[in-house]
Amino acid sequence: MIIVTKPDATEEQIQHVVDRIKEWGLKAEVSRGAQRVVIGVIGQEDVIREKPIAAMAGVESVTPVLKPYKLVAHEFRQTQSLVKVGDVTVGNSEVVIMSGPCSVENREQITSIARDVKQAGARILRGGAFKPRTSPYTFQGLGIDGLKMLAEAREATGLPVITEIMDTKDLEVIEKYADCLQVGARNMQNFSLLKEVGRSKLPVMLKRGMSATVKDLLMSAEYILSEGNFNVMLCERGIRTFETYTRNTLDLNAVPVLKKETHLPVVVDPTHGIGLREHIPQMALAAVAAGADALMIEVHNNPELAKSDGEQALMPDEFAELVARVRAVAQAVGRGA
Ligand code: PEP
Ligand code: MN
Repeated sequence: MIIVTKPDATEEQIQHVVDRIKEWGLKAEVSRGAQRVVIGVIGQEDVIREKPIAAMAGVESVTPVLKPYKLVAHEFRQTQSLVKVGDVTVGNSEVVIMSGPCSVENREQITSIARDVKQAGARILRGGAFKPRTSPYTFQGLGIDGLKMLAEAREATGLPVITEIMDTKDLEVIEKYADCLQVGARNMQNFSLLKEVGRSKLPVMLKRGMSATVKDLLMSAEYILSEGNFNVMLCERGIRTFETYTRNTLDLNAVPVLKKETHLPVVVDPTHGIGLREHIPQMALAAVAAGADALMIEVHNNPELAKSDGEQALMPDEFAELVARVRAVAQAVGRGA
C-alpha cells in the first residue's frame, strides 16, 4: 500500500499517519520527494486493506500495490536511488566500474591489482575473502586475513572495498573492514542472511541467483529493504540455461526490465556471466549500452596461478583497454564513465 500525502500536509499529520500505522502493527517507510511525501505501508495485505487510511488528515491518495514487491518498486520511489560505496556514487550518470581479483590471495597480490585497476579507472575494489566454492576441496578464501588485506589495499589506493558475505556470523567483522557487502548468487534466497544485511549500515550488492527469475531477485531485494536498508544494488551475473558453451548466459534482458521495475541501481557482471576471458569485453560494452549503472569485472595479474576463476580474469592491460572502450560506449548512450 502506497500513501501519498497532500503537498500542504503538515509534519504532525504525516507523523500521525506513521504512528497509526505502527500502532496497527504494520511498518511505515517514508520517502520524501520535493513536493510530496510517500509512505509505504508494509505488512499483511488483508490487515492493511481494512484500515481507514484515506480518511486521515493530510492524505491525498492510498493505492494498493498489486505487485508482490513494494519498497523496491518504482511506485514507491519514482526517482533513481543512488547508492554510496565509500565516496563513490552508483546510480547517477557515471557508469561505475568495480574490479579486482575473484579471491584475495595475499597482500602483494591484492595491493598490486588494486593499484592496477585504479590506474585503469576502476572506482571500487572487489575481492573475495569468504568464497562460495562448488567443491569443499578447493580454495575457500583467506577469511578475516583476506579482509585485512583488502582494507590495506584500500589504504594504499583510496578505493572503497566490496566483498562477499556468506554467513550472518561474519557480518560484524566484514563491517569493520569493508565498504559494501556482496550477497552472492548462491545466497540470493538465503533469507536469514538477507534480513541480517538489511539491518547493516553498509550498502549491499545482491547478485541474481543462477536459477532465479527477475521477480525472485526483486523479492529478495525486498527482504533487505523491508529491514530498513535501502542502499541496495542489483547485479545480473548470468543464469543457467541449456547453453553450455559459456559458463552462464548473461541475461541482458534483465537490465531494461529492472530499470523499469525498480529504482535500485543495476550492476552487470559480465565476468561470471560469460566466464570466458576473450568474450568479456563485448558483454561489458553491451551491458553499458543496455543501461547498466555499474560493471563488476574480475582482474588478475597472474590468471594462470589464480586460486579461483583464473580462466575468466582479464589481465590489467586488457582491463585498461576495456575501460577506455566502456567510456566511449557510455558517452555514446548519454552516460559518463
Ligand atoms: C564472485 O563474485 O566471485 C562470485 C562468486 O559471484 P557469483 O555469486 O555471482 O557466482
Ligand atoms: Mn569469481
